Amino acid sequence: MHWSLAIAKEIVERRKEKKHVVATGITPSGDIHVGNLREIIIADAVHTALVNMGVDARLIYIADTFDPLRRRYSFLPEEYESHVGKPLSEIPDPEGCHSSYADHFLLPFLDSLDNLGIKIEIFKADEMYKSEMYVDVIKEAIVRRDDLARIIEQVSGRQVPEEWAPFNPLCDACGRITSAIVKGYDLNKQEVYYECECGNKGTASFRGGGKLAWRVDWAARWKILGVTIEPFGKDHAAPGGSYDTGKRISSEIYHYEAPYPIPFEHILLKMKGEQGTKAKVTAMSSSRGTNIPVHEMLEAVPPEVLKHIISRVRPDKHIEFDPSLPLLHLIDEYEREIGGIGRGVAGKIPFRHFITLVQIARGDFSKLLEVIKRSGYEVREEDQEGIKEIWKKARHVENWLRRYAPPSVKFEVQAKLPAEIRTLSPAHRKAIEQILPEDKELPTMSAEDWHNRIYEVASANDIAPKELFVATYMALLGQPSGPRAGWLLGSLDPKFLRKRFKEVGEL
Ligand SMILES: [Zn+2]
Ligand SMILES: [Zn+2]
Repeated sequence: MHWSLAIAKEIVERRKEKKHVVATGITPSGDIHVGNLREIIIADAVHTALVNMGVDARLIYIADTFDPLRRRYSFLPEEYESHVGKPLSEIPDPEGCHSSYADHFLLPFLDSLDNLGIKIEIFKADEMYKSEMYVDVIKEAIVRRDDLARIIEQVSGRQVPEEWAPFNPLCDACGRITSAIVKGYDLNKQEVYYECECGNKGTASFRGGGKLAWRVDWAARWKILGVTIEPFGKDHAAPGGSYDTGKRISSEIYHYEAPYPIPFEHILLKMKGEQGTKAKVTAMSSSRGTNIPVHEMLEAVPPEVLKHIISRVRPDKHIEFDPSLPLLHLIDEYEREIGGIGRGVAGKIPFRHFITLVQIARGDFSKLLEVIKRSGYEVREEDQEGIKEIWKKARHVENWLRRYAPPSVKFEVQAKLPAEIRTLSPAHRKAIEQILPEDKELPTMSAEDWHNRIYEVASANDIAPKELFVATYMALLGQPSGPRAGWLLGSLDPKFLRKRFKEVGEL
């Protein structure tokens, strides 16, 4: 049984609800990376399992757009120092292409979710605050300030400062949401009075004039949205951590049962260091630059594969993600066990074979179609849908090759006879020429025919097959190894092959 179904069954057993709400949430303070994706994929899997069981369920995503900018990250220009402490929704886009800082990081991620086929209802925290939604929970929090402080102290074991308030006003002078202290309130007018570090004194409304302290906010949101299930990083699940606090706030302040928690382990990024050094494994982190943004990863790996790689692992197991050769192995495995990637012809050509074809075509798309046809696949120019799928897969392959591929899978067909070929013995060079079949057979040779042919010629000449493979790569690529030789030969222009192999034999 898939873990998501086991969890869904347990939830339904434990909690009787007319409707279940699976919630996720991420702060768009920087690129949303592959590590963040795990939360959404877990939520999506459990939601899908519930729906398949016939349970009425919603999947929601809360973007923490009203969270403050914590510090000036290394990717931000110096003048962003002045925006530290302001809500992300109120800060300009650092690259000027979206209406706010928050949208700049959020929207590409939402596109990626679309790409991954994850359908999710989006809530933006700043819009929730600016609407009516939070008014009642803010009132409750302000009235019960002392109870909240007591819960936080008891669960977390840390002292809550005397001036602490569960509500952080947004200062209308400096724009920060982190530096004002609540001095009083009026529940009827739905506002608090504050004094800010910047010297300003003002009034903040319960509708967008500030936000709840985050541990309180988390519990308040469960109540507002009726959340019954929520996955979150295991650090929040630690004893005395934010989930424990939220659970008590939820039941004692908001009289609401906290959602069923699904704590999950991190995705660790494994990246090759400089040549020769050992691969480093690091937790993905935007601020430390050890991440791959989801939208960037999806340029190099088909969405269904990325989703599969994450969802096949139980949430309590960590995932080591290595986008180089191990990713390619996972793609092979996916194609073997689940099915072809892409519709039509694209789905019939293995990703690994595509890596050969794309490199033979050198990024020239019309040449790629020719190469594909030559390697034995039927491509019809009028099949626009099919052509588009080929193009999509070729883009993934190109990006993977450029960003993550190890040197061992890269090659270049040499336009001129490589000089290294002279290091081969005359017997090997003669054998290469013999690999060529009769001229009339040449255009019909399949990958398998080529492969068998090399074995036959090697045995006829008393050469170890491996040596003849090496010689073949040397003749074409100027290096001793390359992609599967049958694929390579079957994808190359027969006229080119004839010319090259004759040249080698006549040396
Ligand atoms: Zn932008
Ligand atoms: Zn201020």
